[in-house]
Amino acid sequence: MKRLIIVISILLFSVFFYLKLNKIDDWVDFLYPNIEFVDEDKVSEGSQIFHQLVPNPDSLFNSCILNVCKILYQEQSEIPVKKLFKFNLRNTQGVAATGGDSTTVDMFLNTNYITGFYNNHDKSDEETLLEITGIIIHELTHAYQHSPKGAGGYVNRSEHFSCVEGMADATRLKAGYISPKFRKPGGHWNDGYKTTAFFIDWMSTQDADFIYKMNQSTLTITPWTWDKATNQILGKSVLDLWIAYQKFVNPNGTDPVANFTSSDTISVTYNKVVFTDESTEEPFDWKWTFEGGIPSTSNERNPTVVYKTEGKYSVKLEIVNAFGLDSILKSDYVVIDKNPAGILISDLESIVMSQYSDSPKGEDVSKLFDNNSSTKYLTFNNSSWLQFVCKSNKKYFLNKYTLVSANDSPQRDPKSIVLKGSNNGKNWIIIDKKENIAFTNRHQALDFKLSNKNAFSYFRFELTNHSGDMLQLADIQLFGVPNV
Ligand SMILES: [Zn+2]
Repeated sequence: MKRLIIVISILLFSVFFYLKLNKIDDWVDFLYPNIEFVDEDKVSEGSQIFHQLVPNPDSLFNSCILNVCKILYQEQSEIPVKKLFKFNLRNTQGVAATGGDSTTVDMFLNTNYITGFYNNHDKSDEETLLEITGIIIHELTHAYQHSPKGAGGYVNRSEHFSCVEGMADATRLKAGYISPKFRKPGGHWNDGYKTTAFFIDWMSTQDADFIYKMNQSTLTITPWTWDKATNQILGKSVLDLWIAYQKFVNPNGTDPVANFTSSDTISVTYNKVVFTDESTEEPFDWKWTFEGGIPSTSNERNPTVVYKTEGKYSVKLEIVNAFGLDSILKSDYVVIDKNPAGILISDLESIVMSQYSDSPKGEDVSKLFDNNSSTKYLTFNNSSWLQFVCKSNKKYFLNKYTLVSANDSPQRDPKSIVLKGSNNGKNWIIIDKKENIAFTNRHQALDFKLSNKNAFSYFRFELTNHSGDMLQLADIQLFGVPNV
């Protein structure tokens, strides 16, 4: 009897160790979802490339699913069960996306992306197949990974975004579908995608199960943060790890050098001033201080600031990289002026239109609002309306407009103007009327000041010439202040 127990024990141990050593065998009964492959764009080149490179889609999908699950999980029992995998080749925008519910994976891959990748980048069949497979692995990670709880919205550089996108690319990297040549210093662990993936890959050299543990950490850490996850898995703060990783990638790195520029250094109240970080040596942390600005501080790399009050204001930028820190203070850097004319609205993004589309080549309505008096607008009509619509329907109080005469033929100059404003392009209010306008020179600028009580996003000029059947003008410039 005793002997039998020993024999059975040895047998059980052998089976146990056999299974332990041959982990692959644990997955032989892996439950694949049913596959529903719909090609919505059969006639396209992208679809043809896909079918040529992937003669057996089901086997590619199954191998990707198994690959992803083996990277994200250690035991089959941990894996969220997916019963259906819907894959669509679609003529759309972007690269690919994944949705679905707890048991269904709903993925599309953009045929235009395949065509563009194959042709524009002059890629080989092998490289294109690697790309397609890599995208599917990235997308499948989204289907099988856990979502971090309380980690903010899915917005750029949030903990949530960088967790899910970093993990998806880390899976793709581990599966061999991102080339190591893409690893470069700089960025931030919250950037997501490859930047975060290579950081995860490096952390996996300290704990081979890092991706598995990171995915599991989203189940237990609420709200999930990188710092809590790295402390739990590696016992170190994410900042310390990031600095060590940066030093590993870039062993000859140096202290950063702070610098910045801005969209305007002379501006008016409520105009948006965009600051651009020009620092070198890959900073990953920015702290701006804006004297008199709203907001007065920012941690964005390129923040937007408005100023409520006229004056001269200092701007300070402090930066950190893996090797050190630096700061720069620019005194009286932004001058907020009391220029009553405001900013040049016709310099901003807009949609312009004209009543007629008979202009000769190079003399269309866009030339009227290009703030370049060496070009002109011309129509073969004695009168016409011309319309300027501020992008995003932003409203402006118009303070001044300037008309610039064209290069020749004074009889084609506008003699009368009716200027109207609107906020929907349907209901118009007259802002200004002028009769008997006379330019005395070519390329001459005439200013017309306004005291405008209403803000508009649509401006329409109705112009009538002096004589003949052609109307022309070099430029219309609009000046105003934004309605905030
Ligand atoms: Zn993604």
